[in-house]
Amino acid sequence: MDESRIYLTHLECSVCGKQHAANVEQHLCSCGGILLARYDLAAVASDVPRDRIAARPWYAGLWRYSELLPVAPADRVTLGEGATPLLPLDWLGQELGMDAWLKDEGLNPTGAFKARGAAVGVSRAKALGARTIALPTAGNAGAAWAAYGARAGVPVIVAMPKDAPPLTQQEVALYGARLHLVDGLISDAGRWVAEGVAREGWYDASTFKEPYRLEGKKTLGLEIAEQLGWQTPDVILYPTGGGVGLLGLWKAFAELRELGWIASDRPAPRLVAVQAAGCAPVVRAWESGADTTAFWEGAQTIAAGLRVPGPLAGALMLRVLRETRGTAIAIEDEAIAQAMSELAGHGFWVCPEGAALLPAVRRLRASNWIRAGESVVLLNTGSGLVYPDVTPPNGAVVI
Ligand SMILES: *Cc1c(COP(=O)(O)O)cnc(C)c1O
Ligand SMILES: [Zn+2]
Repeated sequence: MDESRIYLTHLECSVCGKQHAANVEQHLCSCGGILLARYDLAAVASDVPRDRIAARPWYAGLWRYSELLPVAPADRVTLGEGATPLLPLDWLGQELGMDAWLKDEGLNPTGAFKARGAAVGVSRAKALGARTIALPTAGNAGAAWAAYGARAGVPVIVAMPKDAPPLTQQEVALYGARLHLVDGLISDAGRWVAEGVAREGWYDASTFKEPYRLEGKKTLGLEIAEQLGWQTPDVILYPTGGGVGLLGLWKAFAELRELGWIASDRPAPRLVAVQAAGCAPVVRAWESGADTTAFWEGAQTIAAGLRVPGPLAGALMLRVLRETRGTAIAIEDEAIAQAMSELAGHGFWVCPEGAALLPAVRRLRASNWIRAGESVVLLNTGSGLVYPDVTPPNGAVVI
């Protein structure tokens, strides 16, 4: 058995279905559609028994799933990402009459699940010969790509809003990436990057403008299934900005089912897109039955990672919510701040994006959208340590 074989076969447009070669740099389809990585899953299924994955050491992180990733072992750029804990929240399960779990992505390098996408994205960009990687970010993706770029020895250029979390700006600079601050939102930063890509030939690593960040984030779903004994939870709540995690979960469960690694008679988890009330284009489109998102004017929220007013994958996210019988829900900043305090009282200093999941799960249970006895995973995307400026003081008791 050749452990270094990669099973990636081609890229497929999510809109028109056209196939693209995977052995050269690719961005969007000529029709503008997002490209999805495809693997020879029949060969994986016959070469790799599921138990072989389970036997691999947990310290190998997301690379335990190497056959479902587009990177040969020699090309891996790693800082120890993935393999985060899935922890039971007994207090919440008891309160709501269900099984509740927290997948804690705050333990990743750079403190957020962006490390998964950056590890695989940078590995692949370097293998394909990228000389300068550029991306716009709301904050955390910039920090992660800067760190992995430094690890790989590939220069990185990051554009972000000047009011993005200050720590993420510091991180980008400290890792030696070039930082461009825009007086605007991630969408404005995206325009600046697109100009540089056209003018300078930078490798465009904007969300969904390269197909491999999604593959890294897909490992979230693979880990959740494995950690639950190759079972699927009924519901996964995910704080949604650009939607890479949402699509990654969807793709993970689809591939696992095709491989026969999860039971084919169990439905895929119902995916919930949780957004901030101050920037909720997916929720608004979902509620109105639209098949794509419209630009959200005046986006504002303390959950910086959710401040994505015009996601490129808007239509695809809505398709994923429909296909998984999911839903979308928006949470106000006051409720997010309160949830940060409450979760800290249970030992978790989570990011505001992750904190939004707590009021969301309570509301969905109260409306019986989540039914008694169901198993529910809250996907906390990052650590609160990255957000000292928005963490509520919580009335320190000094004795
Ligand atoms: C980026 C980010 C999100 C949103 O992730 P998408 O994949 O863009 O939907 C959520 N939480 C945190 C902490 C983030 O950094
Ligand atoms: Zn296409």
